[in-house]
Order: sequence, then structure tokens, then C-alpha cells
Amino acid sequence: MYDKVNVEGVFAKNVFTLSKMKERLPKDAYKEVVHVMNEGGEISKQTANVVANAMKEWAEENGVTHYTHWFQPLTGITAEKHDAFVSHPDEDGKMITEFSGKELIKGEPDASSFPSGGLRATFEARGYTAWDITSPAFIKEASTGPILCIPTAFCSYTGEALDKKTPLLRSMEALSTQAVRIEHLFGNTAATKVTPSVGPEQEYFLVDADLYKKRSDLVYAGRTLFGAPAPKGQEMEDHYFGVIRERVGAFMKDLNEELWKLGVTAKTQHNEVAPAQHELAPIYETANVAVDHNQLVMETMKRVATNHNMRCLLHEKPYAGVNGSGKHNNWSITTDTGKNMLEPGDTPNENIEFLLVLACIMKAVDEHADLLRQSASDVGNDHRLGADEAPPAIISIFLGDQLDDVVRQLVETGAAKKLKTSDKLKTGVSTLPDLEKDATDRNRTSPFAFTGNKFEFRMVGSADSIAAANTTLNAIVAEAFCEAADTLEKAKDFDIAVHDLIKEYMTDHQRIIFNGDGYADAWVKEAEQRGLPNIKSTIEAASALTSKKAIKLFDRFGIYTETELQSREEITYEIYAKTINIEALTMIDMAGKQIIPAVVRYSKTLADTIIAVKEAGGDVYTQSVLLKDVSKNLTMMQKALDKLKKDEAKASAMTDAKKQAFFYKDTIKADMDALRAPADALEMIVDKKIWPIPTYGELMFEV
Ligand code: ADP
Ligand code: MG
Repeated sequence: MYDKVNVEGVFAKNVFTLSKMKERLPKDAYKEVVHVMNEGGEISKQTANVVANAMKEWAEENGVTHYTHWFQPLTGITAEKHDAFVSHPDEDGKMITEFSGKELIKGEPDASSFPSGGLRATFEARGYTAWDITSPAFIKEASTGPILCIPTAFCSYTGEALDKKTPLLRSMEALSTQAVRIEHLFGNTAATKVTPSVGPEQEYFLVDADLYKKRSDLVYAGRTLFGAPAPKGQEMEDHYFGVIRERVGAFMKDLNEELWKLGVTAKTQHNEVAPAQHELAPIYETANVAVDHNQLVMETMKRVATNHNMRCLLHEKPYAGVNGSGKHNNWSITTDTGKNMLEPGDTPNENIEFLLVLACIMKAVDEHADLLRQSASDVGNDHRLGADEAPPAIISIFLGDQLDDVVRQLVETGAAKKLKTSDKLKTGVSTLPDLEKDATDRNRTSPFAFTGNKFEFRMVGSADSIAAANTTLNAIVAEAFCEAADTLEKAKDFDIAVHDLIKEYMTDHQRIIFNGDGYADAWVKEAEQRGLPNIKSTIEAASALTSKKAIKLFDRFGIYTETELQSREEITYEIYAKTINIEALTMIDMAGKQIIPAVVRYSKTLADTIIAVKEAGGDVYTQSVLLKDVSKNLTMMQKALDKLKKDEAKASAMTDAKKQAFFYKDTIKADMDALRAPADALEMIVDKKIWPIPTYGELMFEV
């Protein structure tokens, strides 16, 4: 028998929660913090000092000696720089630890080594971090000793955002302002704020640490760059929701506990489709907190895996031939009066406000499909979007039968009189209950699916921050709400005007609805006929950021300035080029120092054998076939390696970031494929004993 796990006691143990603040702060200070959290504004210097001191005391009671402003630069991961609470000793040489309100609120890390996409050249190298009071401080346990982490935004000297969080916070405010206008139009005048909620489902792979260390592609690139398929892949579908292996189970148990301590509501865990692939989903929460928590989930996964002598692979496509990993970003919007604006109710056809919200989202997604696609792009995700298992690179909305029918009626006749109802699901077994069927079935192939009372944006990559995706979603929906409110607030007859507007938006943007199989080739053709964009790669998506339409959208709501957008586009090219460069250099290294030498040795053994067997009068048929095959592939490898090296030299001499990125995509990636093909063919024929790196079978099945 096991002892009770004290989940309630463990949960948020490492978080400076509101309830801890209530306990430790004077009433007035506490009230001020809560007020600023809910209404915005700044807390006074005096209160900041009081909060900082209370935070320090709590942290010190928990063994903390250092704090850090924890921020999210454009590298996509988090950054921290630790400072001890130590101060100048007094005259008697006695140390009194200190943490001031100023240190809590503002930091000044040197920003010059973070990507800034040209912002650095125009502005000072200085960067500032500013406390995000709406995301709680927490203690991170690490080998350095526990660290007090203060979630912050990161800006340049002139206020340009250098991070992923600042635009997100700005987009949340924009969405709130516009959504409140819609609420007021429908009589909900009590609503003063609307907040997006996000629940990201995180997929990942685990691999044995000893095997991992033998693969420099995994170490440097986070994915395999060589590797023939194992005899078994995912075709038996026996891993999905399968029994969790002992070692993985022990990892998950620790992971849950570590996440609960950090206030992350880790809820669901299961095996995913590919061998050694798994998923964790927390319960949804306010978008900026969900973004922070998702970073913590990724970080904690890596740390806990290491403790179990494993490595966690967050790359979108660690292995060719089996599913990659993504992140389903579940998104909904709720008023401070507790109403989810995406809740259709029992009779969505009569729910005018819901239909308007839906019409606005259809308009937003259709008009800004390119931006949404861009927001979910990263280098690794290029392997996934458009491949078999993932949503295609084409943005479309799945509504399910019922809502699809409602939209159709509205477009065709201007009213949705009928509602397709779902019946009971008959199990056919008298002892089993008959289940109420959901009105929407699932469509796993849709990139943007309505699932009951939320939209699930399934394009986001597993290694990526979810900040950009949510910033874009908030922004485009804010714009559609704004335009609808502009029209409706002026309308003489609201009922007629809203009716007309719903019909207009749904008619104009019906093309974005697609309920069929998103993986089918037929869809690619149909989408093209419908005029929907099909953007194949990260770097092709990047220019969406600086289109006239995007600049207008983001500028209007104060989410990104034009300069910030340009810098983000530039950074995309830089990161792309750097990533593929690392992959190419890793391949050159592995091919030249490991694979080719091993194959050369093997071919010598074959040649020696042929001579010896011949001399002894034996039959050398097999050895000769093998030697021919090996030599042929070896030659191909060497030629491909030479070409890759030559093109690499060309690539690194290029100075225009965009041109360079496209050269990496069009030339270097093709060279890499050409090098991989003969290497993988050789892996299938060369003696396993001399193959220098662990195989796919070992990596995926020996966890
Ligand atoms: P699945 O999609 O795998 O069947 P669920 O739909 O239950 O699972 O939940 C997936 C994620 O969506 C979870 O993180 C969950 O908390 C989140 N979620 C559920 N309801 C909402 C909502 N209204 N808004 C945002 N996220 C939600
Ligand atoms: Mg889901």
C-alpha cells in the first residue's frame, strides 16, 4: 500500500501566492498589490519595498540566497542572472541581507548578447527587466541552490520589447478593451475586463542519457540527423495511450510533483503516438501565466529527465518517419463576470452574441491566416507542419457538424432556424450507460478547431514558446471585435445591425471553414482554389510580420511597433540560418569522423575476406555484393559531404540575413538530405557491431 500524497500541501509550495502575500503583508500593501494586479497601474515605492522584503523573508525561510529577474528573450527560452541578497557589511563587518523594492521592480541585465534584430544597432545595448506583477514569483530548485525567480518583461532603453512577454501583455489589454465593448453592446455592462485563458498540451520524447550522449546530433541539434528506420515504428498504434513504462512512470511522478510545487496544475499524462513520445497537459489559466508555466514545464521536463538518467527531447521532429511533437494551444476568453464568450450554450443558433463572436473569429483567422501561421513557426516545426501527422501548413477552422450547419443556414437564409441535435450514443450493452453525444466530434487534422467552448490551435511547435501564438490570436480577435463594435455602437437598430453583420462576416469568410481531412492532397488543391495561403516554411512565413496589414493591426492596438516587427522578422532569418548551420556542421562532423571511417574499416574487412575466401577456393558472392553496395554508398556519401562543405563555406560568407536563410533552406538542406540518404542506406547493410552511433531502435525502444 502507498501513503497518501499530500497534493494540497505540495501545490504551489514554491510560489509566492496571493494567500502568502495576504499572510505576510500589511493589509494596505496587500490591497494595493491586488488592485494593481487587477486594474493595472504601478505600485508605490513604499509598497514595493514592503513586498520585496516579505518576498525575501519567505524565500530565505526556504533556503534561498539569490534572486533573479526571470525573462523570455527572443531566443524562445528563458533567461536568468542570479544576484545574492548580500549587501555591504556594516561597520562591524556584519552582513544584513537586502532586497529592495527597486530591485524587485526593475533590473538591468546587459542586453547586448540577446537577439535584437537590429534594435541593438539603433538603440542602446541596455535592456531593462520589469516585474510582471500578474505572474507570481516562485522558487526554482536547482543545483545552485534554490533561486527566487521574479517573472519580468524585457525592454530596451527606449521601450522596445526585446522579449515575448511584453507584446503578449499588450495584446491581452487590447483584447480586453475590445471584448468589453462587445459585452456592453449585449447588455453585460458589469463586465470591465476580458481575459484570455490558455491550456497548452505539451508533447515530448524521452531518450536514455547514455545513448543520447553517443549521438552528437541529439546533443547539438536536439534531433537525429542520421538514422535508418527501426524495424518497428508506430504502425501498430500500440504506444498511443499504452501502459506507461516503469522508468517513464517514475519520471512522470517526479515531474508532476515538481510542477505542482511550482503552482503548475499538471493534470493529464499519457503516451503519445510515436514510440517514446509522451504528453502532459495542465489545467488552463490566464494567458501570460500559462506562457510562463509552459516555459517551466519544458524546463522541468529537462531537469527531471536528467535526474532519471534520461534526456527530454522537445524538438518538433527528433526522429524521421514517426510523429513529431507539437503543442495544442487551447484558447478561450472570459469576462470578469465569469462568462466564457466562446460558450455556445444549448441553442447556439439562437445565441446572437456567440454567433457574433464566432463570426468575428472567422473574419480574424481568415484575414490574418498568414500571421497565425507565422506565429506558430519555428525552425523545427518546418519538419512537422504539412507532414503527415501534424496539421497542414494551411490555416482553416473546424467547427463540427452542428455549428457548420448553423453557419451554412445563416449564410444561405440569414437565419439559423434549425439545430442539428446529437442523440444518445448507444453502447448496445444493457449494463453500460447510454452516453450523451458531444455536438462536435473531433477532427484531429484541423489546425484550428472549435472544441466545445474553446478553440484549439494545434500548429504550435513543441519546443516553441506559446507567447507569439497567443499574442497574435489576441490581436487579430481584438481587431475584429473593434470593427464590429465600431459598426454596432453606431447602429440605429441594434438587432437588425447585428444580424446583418453576422451574415456579412460569415458569408465573406466562410472559405476558412473546413471540416474534412486536412492531411489529404485534395485539401491542398481545394485550399488553393479558395485562395487560402499555404506557407511552407518559417522563413517564408516571416515576411507576414511586416506586411502593411500586419503593421496596421499591431500598431493600431499598440502591440508591436513597426520597428519591433522588423526586428522580429530579422531575428527569424538569423535564428534559422544559425540553426541549420549547426545541423550542417554536426552532420559534417559525424559523417567525416564517425560514419565514413567506420564504413571504410568495414569495406576493408570485406575486401580482405573476399581475397582470403577466394584464395581458399570459397564462394565470395555475398561478400562481393556487399562490397559493391557499400562502396557505391560510400562514394555517394563522400561526394555529398564534399558538396555540403563547399556550400557551407558559401553560406557562412553571406552577409544578408534573409538571403542567407533562404540559401540554407534551398541549398544546404538539400545537401544534408543528400548526405543522409546513403548514410542511412549504409546503416542497413553495415555490421551492427561497427556502426558508430546508437540506432533508432535503441533510441526509441530502449527507454
Ligand atoms: P483534449 O483536448 O486532449 O481532449 P481537454 O479538451 O480536456 O483535452 O483539455 C485540453 C486542454 O485544454 C487542457 O489544458 C485544458 O485545461 C484546456 N481547456 C479546457 N477548457 C478550456 C477553456 N475553456 N479555455 C482554455 N483552455 C481550456
Ligand atoms: Mg486537445
